[in-house]
Amino acid sequence: MRYPFAEIEPKWRKFWEEKEVYRTDLNKADKKLYSLVMFIYPSGARLHIGHWYNYGPNDSWARYKKLKGFNVFEPIGYDAFGLPAENYAIKTGIHPYDSTIQNINEIRIQLKNMGCMYDWDAELMTCAPEYYKWNQWLFLQLYKKGLAYRKNAPVNWCPKDHTVLANEQVQSDGTCERCGTLVIQKNLTQWFFKITDYAEELLSYLDKINWPEKTKLMQRNWIGKSVGAEVVFKVDESNEEIKIFTTRPDTLFGATYMVLAPEHTLVDAITTNEFRAAVNQYKDSIKSMSEIDRTSTVKEKTGVFTGAYAINPVNNKKIPIWIADYVLTTYGTGAIMAVPGQDERDWEFAEKFNLPIVRTVKPPEDFNGKAYLGDGPATNSDFLDGLYVDDAKKKIINWLEEKGIGKNKINYRLRDWLISRQRYWGTPIPIIHCPKCGEVPVDEKDLPVELPYEVGFRPSGESPLESNKDFINVKCPKCNGEAKRDADTMDTFVDSSWYYFRYLNPRINNAPFDRQLADKWTPIDMYVGGAEHAVMHLLYARFIHKFLRDLGWTNSDEPFANLIHQGTITNQGTKMSKSKNNIVNPDDFTNEYGSDVFRLYLMFMGPYDLGGDWSEKGIAGTDRFVNRTYELYNKFKNAGNGIQTKNSYDINSLNEDEKKLYRKINQTIKKFEEEIDNFRFNTAIASLMELLNETKRIEECSKEIQVYILERFAILFSSVAPHLGEECWQLLGKEHSVYEKPVWYNPDAFALIEDKVNIAVQINGKLRATIEMPIDSDQESVKTIVLKDEKVLKYINGSKVVKEIFVKNKIYNLVVK
Ligand SMILES: [Zn+2]
Ligand SMILES: [Zn+2]
Repeated sequence: MRYPFAEIEPKWRKFWEEKEVYRTDLNKADKKLYSLVMFIYPSGARLHIGHWYNYGPNDSWARYKKLKGFNVFEPIGYDAFGLPAENYAIKTGIHPYDSTIQNINEIRIQLKNMGCMYDWDAELMTCAPEYYKWNQWLFLQLYKKGLAYRKNAPVNWCPKDHTVLANEQVQSDGTCERCGTLVIQKNLTQWFFKITDYAEELLSYLDKINWPEKTKLMQRNWIGKSVGAEVVFKVDESNEEIKIFTTRPDTLFGATYMVLAPEHTLVDAITTNEFRAAVNQYKDSIKSMSEIDRTSTVKEKTGVFTGAYAINPVNNKKIPIWIADYVLTTYGTGAIMAVPGQDERDWEFAEKFNLPIVRTVKPPEDFNGKAYLGDGPATNSDFLDGLYVDDAKKKIINWLEEKGIGKNKINYRLRDWLISRQRYWGTPIPIIHCPKCGEVPVDEKDLPVELPYEVGFRPSGESPLESNKDFINVKCPKCNGEAKRDADTMDTFVDSSWYYFRYLNPRINNAPFDRQLADKWTPIDMYVGGAEHAVMHLLYARFIHKFLRDLGWTNSDEPFANLIHQGTITNQGTKMSKSKNNIVNPDDFTNEYGSDVFRLYLMFMGPYDLGGDWSEKGIAGTDRFVNRTYELYNKFKNAGNGIQTKNSYDINSLNEDEKKLYRKINQTIKKFEEEIDNFRFNTAIASLMELLNETKRIEECSKEIQVYILERFAILFSSVAPHLGEECWQLLGKEHSVYEKPVWYNPDAFALIEDKVNIAVQINGKLRATIEMPIDSDQESVKTIVLKDEKVLKYINGSKVVKEIFVKNKIYNLVVK
């Protein structure tokens, strides 16, 4: 019998929607469970298999929790601003607003067909003024606290997308995360959010959240804490000073030269006339190089001497000051003391330019390399001599502090978050630039600063908003003179840094979100989404959450208590992409097999965090499983009418078939719980398939036991195949829908223990028979049965038994001659 999904699935979705089964009462925080997936980017490609794989299994986990009595909140929304819609507009002339709304309308239908428990009252889209108004509000709060600021700085620029990128959006090979174009450096005045103020907490609180270790490690490395000292070097024959940060203050006696980043503000001031031309030429030559290129370890070192000298504060030696591209203004102070004896890059540089090398840590006897990075006694270091690295560090820092020329210092690799984008389809920055008053924040009561519809979004090198004079030209709120709005928009990661708060009440219009609900419902209990967001969205959201907490908007410290990354579904081993023309369209399969079969099949493919390779072949097997289940319930239509099952039965009162099935269903519940709790959907579904095979015995059971088995199976099934689960439950004769009145059956602990085992009987090492015996039977009793078995007797066939090997509960091996 074929499962008529085309009738049954829409029927249940309509039922759920009409009965508002998935509307969550957020005021009830008892047993609350906030289950979140990364909201969807409404691209023209609509819902792809990756979304399905993210959303479907997570919904099954949340359904399981709902059946277990949790008050589950499962929202969905649209991350609706961003580059792809704008690039599409440039290509086709279709306005980003129009294409985005059109895509959302189509995606919403697809999402509904998945049959997830979304609370549609919570739906939101970030491109709506009532949403992005609060991005602007957030900006102003950061601005008030000095955590949003503007500065001119070398920034990452994508020549193809014509926009600035945050460091997090530049891939490790120096290319744009969006389009793969090599990113260049450009000096621009841009807005930054001071995420660095939260560096220490962002780091230390990683220990308090249950996230994949790999993701936490990526954040740790990205934050990049290092402990060391700040030391001040005086410039010889000048009043200037150069501050450096070093993790190895113990090697100060080995600092034989200094290097400044070519962009360091002191370079012009200290360069002597004799060297000025060479310095300027060098600065020009590296202008368009990316940080990745500059710091590449394989690239030959370059640099020029400034003509100036610094004084090493520990020994008053004059040491030359160079500039070189491998020192960056974006790390530390933009200047280093070079200690070639203990640093590989410095050694390479010193060798090339013939600068002195002094070892200050004694390498082991057998060391024959260049720079020595390991531990050892200090040497050539006056009062530090003989001390090992840690002790030498302590002593020199004390010495520096006493003299007032240095101090303990912690440095972070993390940079402030650059949020200005020279693009159209984003949140306008709520700042007005006045020639008299400077930057003037828009008054909160005047928010939102609405994004105008009319703009020229074809890239012209300037921000598209510049082209709308009605938008750009504005009166200064302070002096009423002619002024201009900021023409940039915000990075869309601002939109996604707090959206989970807004879901709690997306219609609230006098606040970004409901403060009381935020206290009750954060942190989020389960967040599922792609691992590619490890140092972007997942770091930004933590920062904004902590900032909002500090403003008193929530009492939780972290946004996401638990995090899981789903794996990737590939097609014949390769990533699905438009360019490779190998995208699997979920609709093709949901149209053929229904949504439940497709969901089950995705979950059955492999471990959730690893994903799997798509194959059309396998789905037929899942389809058979679903059809057989449906058939089973049709056979027992209305079996539950008038029958009240007990919570448990005395297993010894049951007949042999009942016993087997009774044991099996309870073992399956236990196994299923363990697997689903840990997002192991594939093994959870395998246990249901095994159970289905065992139901061949169901005809031999009493009516009551039949119903006992079938009601439990239907409930288990309901979490992984929600439409069919409801249908089976109804076929059984149940009055209320599963999700209208959630139930869960706990396993009967007494039934979990096996009392019989199968023992393999081998003759001369070959399996010849299997016998069932009471658990822990001794050799004598097993032997009696073995020697009565017809198959065994056939193989012995009069030969002499020369040896017997018995492994309790497992094997009886006979060696015959
Ligand atoms: Zn790009
Ligand atoms: Zn003004």
